[in-house]
Amino acid sequence: MRAHPAGPLHGGLQIPEDIGARPDDVNAIAPNVWPTGARRVDGALAIGGVSVNDLAAAHGTPLFALDEDDFRGRSRDFQSSFDGMDVFYAGKSFLCGALVQWLDQDGLGLDVCSGGELQLALRAGFPAARIAMHGNNKSVAELTDGVTAGVGRVVVDSFEEIARLQQIAAEHGVVQPVLVRVTVGVEAHTHEFIATAHEDQKFGFSLAAGKAIEAVREVLSSDALKFLGLHSHIGSQIFDTSGFEVAAHRVVELAAQIYKEYGVVPAELDLGGGLGISYLPHDDPPSAHDVASSLREIVNRECATYGMQVPRVSVEPGRAIVGPGTISVYEVGTVKPVEVGQGAARLYVSVDGGMSDNIRTALYDAEYTCVLASRLSTAEPVPARVVGKHCESGDIVVRDVWLPGDVQSGDLIAVAATGAYCRAMASNYNMLGKPPVVAVKDGGMRVLVRRETLDDLFALDTTLAVESPLGGKESLA
Ligand SMILES: *Cc1c(COP(=O)(O)O)cnc(C)c1O
Repeated sequence: MRAHPAGPLHGGLQIPEDIGARPDDVNAIAPNVWPTGARRVDGALAIGGVSVNDLAAAHGTPLFALDEDDFRGRSRDFQSSFDGMDVFYAGKSFLCGALVQWLDQDGLGLDVCSGGELQLALRAGFPAARIAMHGNNKSVAELTDGVTAGVGRVVVDSFEEIARLQQIAAEHGVVQPVLVRVTVGVEAHTHEFIATAHEDQKFGFSLAAGKAIEAVREVLSSDALKFLGLHSHIGSQIFDTSGFEVAAHRVVELAAQIYKEYGVVPAELDLGGGLGISYLPHDDPPSAHDVASSLREIVNRECATYGMQVPRVSVEPGRAIVGPGTISVYEVGTVKPVEVGQGAARLYVSVDGGMSDNIRTALYDAEYTCVLASRLSTAEPVPARVVGKHCESGDIVVRDVWLPGDVQSGDLIAVAATGAYCRAMASNYNMLGKPPVVAVKDGGMRVLVRRETLDDLFALDTTLAVESPLGGKESLA
């Protein structure tokens, strides 16, 4: 009989701190973290009716599998829950042509924050009038592209930008609608927020320092710009709407001041994105419906306080729409039991991707969960850490998770809720090609973004030989 790879873990060793309780069922697929309808079929994890074994066999690993019905269900849920308001999907969280077309069909707006994101949206046929342009350093070329394409709104972020934009709009004979991004001094994250007078950060015009009202004056004084309203974005992965309450209070107060001084009522109020999702089974974010009704109530109440007409409200969720419906699928290469001190041990499970396809764990200490996805196991759960193949000890995908003690080379590991800020932030570190994005629906698979090959990568290098000495047999080709 083969030696148990997690042998020492059964030898009376302690479990590492911070990993949480041993799960009752290590094969379980917690419904709140996996795509809608995810389940085990013949032991293997299936999403959109497709088994991860079939996905890996057809498209290789690592890959991102995007459940089309989950994505569309969430975007439609936001659209209907925010009835009477506008939902702009934050494209930076993940963009591709098919996804842009789905958003268009379902009537959402789209936020872009670079010329590249704008070009992608336009090439996919998204109507420019429903695009909002963001960014703290939009170039003249990017602003010109936006103005000439006819984007519905530019969210201005600096005095230089206001000057540039007004010149570009005037040159093109366009009156460009703009929102003024206000730094309200609220920083929100998950269950907490902090309200401060100043914010030491790069985005927006400071409310406390009087820059925001000055920016509004600049916009109002230009014939080439149309003042639409105010914008505020307070953070990310937020579970608790009290941060929005403080932000809305401050922005509505500013709107009242604008009315008093300039006789103009801001027609729109954009409260930004940042709505949280479940990454771990115990996470419990509010639903789109609950967020919508609480934001509606907050804005109505604040406007009543100032006797102000209620502006049209918009929101910009990225993660909450695209995050939960996508999973990462990796193949296990090596498994190493490691004693970690104080008599504790953990199983290091190395997979064929890592920080090049999911930088969030290394960058923000983000937490994920994963399962042994290719089969059921009856082995005892052991404390494990899923790590990548990159040359960094911080190359961690899932820091703390219980996995069956018999996990071994060739098994597939699936990581939940990797739709937002994973493929979008992917790099080519260690010359790895970026994984493909494969849509799954009703038992069918469709490649939305193909795997990046070594040929794609090497095409950028002007020195490399055209012919490979390996005869084109590189692992990624
Ligand atoms: C990042 C960002 C968003 C989206 O944030 P999520 O956490 O993905 O919802 C929305 N608006 C602005 C201005 C942003 O910078």
